[in-house]
Amino acid sequence: MNIAVVGTGYVGLVTGTCFAETGNNVICVDIDASKVAKMQEGHVPIYEPDLENLFLRNTKQGRLSFTTNLEEAVKGSEIIFLALPTPPGEDGSADLSYILGVADNLSKIITDYKIVIDKSTVPVGTAEEVEKRLLANLDASLFDVVSNPEFLREGVAVEDFMKPERVVIGTSSEKARLLMKQLYEPFVRQGNPIIFMDEKSAEMTKYAANAFLATKISFMNEIANLCDRVGANVDSVRAGIGTDSRIGKRFLFPGVGYGGSCFPKDVQALHRTAKANDYSFSILQSVMEVNQKQKFIIFEKIKAHFGDLSGKKIGLWGLAFKPNTDDIREAPALYTIDSLLKEGAKVKVYDPEAIQNVKKLYQDRIEYASDQYDCIEGADCLAILTEWNVFRTPDFGKISEKLVKKVIFDGRNVYDPDKIKELGYTYFSIGRPI
Ligand code: NAD
Repeated sequence: MNIAVVGTGYVGLVTGTCFAETGNNVICVDIDASKVAKMQEGHVPIYEPDLENLFLRNTKQGRLSFTTNLEEAVKGSEIIFLALPTPPGEDGSADLSYILGVADNLSKIITDYKIVIDKSTVPVGTAEEVEKRLLANLDASLFDVVSNPEFLREGVAVEDFMKPERVVIGTSSEKARLLMKQLYEPFVRQGNPIIFMDEKSAEMTKYAANAFLATKISFMNEIANLCDRVGANVDSVRAGIGTDSRIGKRFLFPGVGYGGSCFPKDVQALHRTAKANDYSFSILQSVMEVNQKQKFIIFEKIKAHFGDLSGKKIGLWGLAFKPNTDDIREAPALYTIDSLLKEGAKVKVYDPEAIQNVKKLYQDRIEYASDQYDCIEGADCLAILTEWNVFRTPDFGKISEKLVKKVIFDGRNVYDPDKIKELGYTYFSIGRPI
């Protein structure tokens, strides 16, 4: 099939590349001319494991190309994916200006039948709104609008896209249903389902999934904080409840709160949708409040331990909002850095992939390390904010040589508290006895 993907970020580029990998011709459109130029020269503009190989193979074989020209991309494509940003607006609801702006443009470009697919995370009713925009200039027979929310996780995006646990498709058109089924069949050969539903339910499904996962995280963070106060160990509690198949083992790890480009904005947007429909979604209010507090938990532990932080040197490992990505949107590390700087601390950071993005934000307000040990040279403590694998089994001998004081604040419960205490460290983690 001939496919256009509008918006070439984490979702759009992975979507486009993976559809090219299954033999389709894909043209990706972006308004960011420098990004497009980079991709045309054969460079992947984001860090995502496994993406580069697929990207290079498919660009070389001519199935994957890039342009800034929407019309050029749309002309030869029957299928048009919208993978555009939906950031929070001022009131927390999703800003639909990117999606609706492109829909308006499409209404002036389309001349033969197209399927226009919302892959962005969009509030209930957006497919209907996109349809209205298209109808302003087009006959209804010239298009179908489909809602096809994306569930990939950054860090394992390619794997998630190539082998999705499920594909959700919201459509009321039989023609679109058949084409979408054909398009996704190569990805579900192992029997995972393609679940068809109406457009509104598909839109709600994506928000329900993210809001549920965010709730799980905030719930475990609350349990961990209570463990801290009563002397229980959240690791034991996690093992005790995770073995209950009704609860499940995953997403039970406490930490420094959820971040990233999805959970914070999606929970907020769903909460706004509820409010706009005169419904008070009180669980979500609490989920957001808990997360807001949790993002500062490592800063608070550092402050409680040292008292006055002015002039204290903090070595901080992990900046990305989670491992295996360079994405720092809403990363808990940024909240920690801001609070430390406000207290007059000196911060030096290290991350395997996200340093360049953090440099753009902080410039010379913090120091950037060349490796994880350089990061803690002469520091009063080490703080861990992202659980990259490279931090899991470090050289503790080297760490103690570099640190002025053997103190570790572990926001991701990476180490075994008993082992680390045996090594002579003062160790603070989340929800586990000191
Ligand atoms: P992103 O910010 O990484 O990428 C968006 C891209 O769209 C950018 O490259 C931007 O330049 C481009 N763009 C903006 N306006 C444009 C226009 N008018 N024409 C063409 N391109 C334009 O965003 P993302 O993380 O890929 O997310 C996209 C959507 O997918 C969001 O709704 C998000 O909630 C959703 N989503 C994201 C993830 C994730 O893990 N990142 C997962 C599932 C769903």
